[in-house]
Amino acid sequence: MSRVYNFSAGPSTLPEPVLLKAQQELLDWRGTGMSVMEMSHRGKEFMSIAEELKADLIELLNIPDNYQVLFLQGGATGQFAAIPQNILRGNDKACYVNTGAWSAKALKEAKNHCDVIVSADSSESKFTDIPAYSDWNVDEAAAYLHYTANETIHGVEFQDIPDFGDIPLVCDMSSNILSREVDISKYGIIYAGSQKNMGPAGVTIVIVRDDLIGNADNKIASVLDYAQQAKNDSMLNTPATYNWYLVGLVLKWLKESGGIADIEQRNIAKSAALYQAIEQSSLYSNPVQKEFRSRMNVPFVLANAELDKEFLARAADNGLMTLKGHRSVGGMRASIYNAMPEEGVSALISFMAEFERTHG
Ligand SMILES: *Cc1c(COP(=O)(O)O)cnc(C)c1O
Repeated sequence: MSRVYNFSAGPSTLPEPVLLKAQQELLDWRGTGMSVMEMSHRGKEFMSIAEELKADLIELLNIPDNYQVLFLQGGATGQFAAIPQNILRGNDKACYVNTGAWSAKALKEAKNHCDVIVSADSSESKFTDIPAYSDWNVDEAAAYLHYTANETIHGVEFQDIPDFGDIPLVCDMSSNILSREVDISKYGIIYAGSQKNMGPAGVTIVIVRDDLIGNADNKIASVLDYAQQAKNDSMLNTPATYNWYLVGLVLKWLKESGGIADIEQRNIAKSAALYQAIEQSSLYSNPVQKEFRSRMNVPFVLANAELDKEFLARAADNGLMTLKGHRSVGGMRASIYNAMPEEGVSALISFMAEFERTHG
């Protein structure tokens, strides 16, 4: 068996100990004689998996008591529609910040449900910065303010939490949840798909403050209604049981490897090393303004785009996979989530230097 370093943006690399544990437990989970995939979601075995999953997430993120933690389906994309339907509460407007492709999708979906005020927009800089908070147009009478903590495609990440008083803050953390310490109490809703930093695709985490629950649009699909899901422990319909189990294994791995404070330090070190290598080279460059550079997704372009193909082919020869940038921005993108080891980033940096020496 030979494992590569996989820089995919999502679904993305998983910690090897998690895959080995899943392999070891695949046919017979703890003496039950069956796979987690085959268990009833109502049985006591799966219930224990579900309870630990929730408890571990609450512990890792230090989620206060006045929040519900839901494990849903439909991805972050499902939440783009679920959010307005749950928390407009009769209001007809919501504020959205447009800092890239994912914000734009969230904003577009919200327009099906209300008037959208675009509070800030960095499309003019081609999504390489975040407008200063002092320039944001936030209407305090709007139902909520939505932003995307990390723009996975452009490699732009908020380094602090916007503060606009009492308006509920709603955040898509799909690609940086669990990568850094966050004060959950600043938020009305945090949501994230699992396939970037938490596990395989198929689980959507929603952390929602109690006062925002229970006033959903009466035409909302039941599975999207936070109140109904909270009341049913996220089992209003059959959950993605095996994916819950795998996310649970990732959380255990994270706890054993020192928790969020520790992984955050490693993420700072990994991303700093890669950005430094890019800065020092004359072949590679990153267009994002320094203070907004993402620790999770590092896009870069080659000075001569004709070398792109060769770069990707030689990288693959060296076991460095899925480095092609998103089709909308071109170039390269190295996604270096929690599960990407330091050695993977070092191997990429060495390869980039060698490629520059021979092709630059
Ligand atoms: C990947 C991603 C999404 C979409 O997730 P789905 O699970 O495909 O719905 C939304 N927002 C961000 C920031 C993402 O990185």
